[in-house]
Amino acid sequence: MSLLAVGTVAIDSIETPLGKAERVVGGAATYIAWAASYFTDQIRILSIIGEDFPQPELELLKSKGVDTEGIHLIKGGKSFFWSGRYSTDMNSRDTLETQLNVLADFAPDLPSAYKNSKYLMLGNLTPAVQMSVLNQMESRPDIIAMDTMNFWMDSAMGELLEVIKRVDILTINDEEARQLSGQQSLAKAARDILKMGPKYLIIKKGEHGALLFDNDQVFFAPALPLYDVFDPTGAGDTFAGGMMGYLSQKGELSFSNLKTAIIYGSAMASFCVEEFGINKLKELTDEEIKIRLKKFIDLVHFEL
Ligand code: AMP
Repeated sequence: MSLLAVGTVAIDSIETPLGKAERVVGGAATYIAWAASYFTDQIRILSIIGEDFPQPELELLKSKGVDTEGIHLIKGGKSFFWSGRYSTDMNSRDTLETQLNVLADFAPDLPSAYKNSKYLMLGNLTPAVQMSVLNQMESRPDIIAMDTMNFWMDSAMGELLEVIKRVDILTINDEEARQLSGQQSLAKAARDILKMGPKYLIIKKGEHGALLFDNDQVFFAPALPLYDVFDPTGAGDTFAGGMMGYLSQKGELSFSNLKTAIIYGSAMASFCVEEFGINKLKELTDEEIKIRLKKFIDLVHFEL
């Protein structure tokens, strides 16, 4: 079933305690599409890039069946650029630089073939762009999920709240949930954020897993303890891609399906962090994913 992924397609420079990667391919939509490509072959990306973006990377996505018609290439422009540095335990990071570049003037024109997408993942990028995509859809997608970050809360809170009103699932990290709600307790933050519109809220807590809330239930998905975490960049987007990939197979949005979906998302994110950038996501097999999912089941299964 068709999944539209909206978000940055970017160039990143990353520094972690285990090394550095200069000007590698990143961006929310890139991670979402790679992760989801293991679950559905009808993925469409809407984004914008400049001439500095390596074309072979787009070809690679195409070879995985991803429709890249909606990635607008701006002649003479520079791609969105982000650089960040992770703390020693890799649980937090500082953004060193965000250059919006071609994203600054992005007024997307949704290709007509995209307008009937059944599933929509509004990945991290300008809230006005997320809104414009929602407004251009021919009919409301069956499931709309959205991710965002503190950068947009600081710079475009009003527009962000308008988008949040219209989605089914919001994914943010714990710090962002506190910023958005003004609450310290994550349970209170969830209660208040659910009043803003979404039916479900997923709060990501990095190596401490993720919490799924609706108005009366909560579920916890752990993160797998890994020997080596090389680079947490994109883990949240990969999580979203795995989650939406799974949901697009199931079709129906329910708390029960979302529980499984966030385990799929966590499994995909656990691969993502094992190498720099998108490297690990490019070479997975279905068998590896199955084995990883089994590890998640074993991690939380116990008898009374
Ligand atoms: P994550 O680690 O899941 O938060 O995602 C990291 C990716 O998000 C990187 O590849 C960046 O290119 C991209 N990114 C960083 N800042 C922003 C932003 N303000 N808006 C959209 N994408 C961003």
